[in-house]
Amino acid sequence: MPLPTVAIIGRPNVGKSTLFNRLVGKRLALVDDQPGVTRDRREGDASLLGLEFRVIDTAGYEDEDAATLPGRMRAQTEAAVREADVSLFLIDARAGVTPLDAEIARWLRSTDRPVVLMANKAEGRAGESGILEAMALGLGDPIPFSAEHGEGVVDLFEALLPHVERDEEEAPEEDPESPDAPLKLAIVGRPNAGKSTLVNRLIGEDRMITGPEAGITRDSISIDWEWIDFEDKPRKVRLVDTAGLRKKARVEEKLEKLSVADTLRSIDFAEVVVLLLDATRGLEVQDLKIADRVLQEGRALIIALNKWDVAENASSLFNGVKGALDEGLAQVKGVPLLTVSAVTGKGLDVLMRVAFETRDAWSRRVPTGQLNRWFERAIEANPPPAPGGKRIKPRYVTQNKSRPPSFVLFGTRVDLLPVSYQRYLINELRREFDFGAVPVRLTLRAPK
Ligand code: GDP
Ligand code: GDP
Repeated sequence: MPLPTVAIIGRPNVGKSTLFNRLVGKRLALVDDQPGVTRDRREGDASLLGLEFRVIDTAGYEDEDAATLPGRMRAQTEAAVREADVSLFLIDARAGVTPLDAEIARWLRSTDRPVVLMANKAEGRAGESGILEAMALGLGDPIPFSAEHGEGVVDLFEALLPHVERDEEEAPEEDPESPDAPLKLAIVGRPNAGKSTLVNRLIGEDRMITGPEAGITRDSISIDWEWIDFEDKPRKVRLVDTAGLRKKARVEEKLEKLSVADTLRSIDFAEVVVLLLDATRGLEVQDLKIADRVLQEGRALIIALNKWDVAENASSLFNGVKGALDEGLAQVKGVPLLTVSAVTGKGLDVLMRVAFETRDAWSRRVPTGQLNRWFERAIEANPPPAPGGKRIKPRYVTQNKSRPPSFVLFGTRVDLLPVSYQRYLINELRREFDFGAVPVRLTLRAPK
């Protein structure tokens, strides 16, 4: 089956070649760049977060001063658009909409071909007025993008998906407990915390865009990529449910409300959930609610204070948030609190490392022998109370499940163990077997 085709079009100098190179990446060798034959265009096999397609770059013909579309450029643009399943129409967000852009847009509107409008060179906060101007081209909201820096990749992925998606094949079942299984990661947080910036930063770097497949499950989109760990080993990551991550072109769309349904769905699919906080706003009640929910659902939680690059009074801010977390999340102390900047990339390697470590802890199984040697010591050091004079006799513990680690405690009247004593056991268990701050469950079984 031939690959779907994507054309890159736009006036000279908007960044078409840069985008082409980014999409084709290391596969540049496959470009059929035969001089004389395909002078006006380059083609290559592209991969974007696992989406595979053929890409046509129409950048071959340069005429910087042209105020209108010169003949050859028009001809090749038209041919590429007709041939392609979808076209990426680039404008330069910094330069704004030029008469030539408007002319191309007019022509595009007259065809019925699918078009994705991209406002390129919009890295950081650049090009906002160009983005607004581009909305008036009548081709839908532009995707703020940076071909040079790889920003906006998730949005491009999602815009392309309906056009280049091929037969949905069920991915082969992976053993989720294998350490090689992709880390299922969700990033949640209030609007404007920086979620989409973070994702783009994480996966926008070339070395990470190597995902073998874009998994499309029934009601969520996931993105596969690889994180190169500290030993240069590629580790698979599956970012689950990116629905909440779309970059909103319009400021008005960034409503100050959290889509609870989106968040819950992300949590549902994830092994590890990163709750992103905005360091310029601190910890709010809603954040604690999300955190609490993540732990209740038995997922491993990491909290990341984003925008650390612009945080004021950093150390008192950090300690304040830390204190509020320990107080607000009484059931699990010591949830990892990291500081990151999605914009500069600082702290992201540590974040990913902690995410993998946390998943390891969350998936860990403790052999029964080891568990019971610990158990005897723990009970000796702090014998259980005797409520109403009746002795409770815990006998043994087994781990019945991992992900999250779950234990069953058997013994006479253990169902009467006070919550404080259960908490003691859980905390000791956590410390002894390095469960960190992942939720640990304990069930009590007293024989009748
Ligand atoms: P083309 O003529 O449309 O193929 O444009 P090029 O890809 O050759 O890019 C034109 C110029 O814009 C080059 O100097 C690029 O480095 C620059 N450029 C491309 N993409 C970006 C971007 O995302 N941000 C910025 N700041 N410059 C870019
Ligand atoms: P989302 O709604 O959670 O997806 O948030 P966005 O990713 O759209 O980011 C909201 C705003 O915060 C944007 O203007 C970003 O440029 C800005 N932002 C995100 N991360 C950082 C960061 O690490 N530092 C700074 N200074 N700004 C950031």
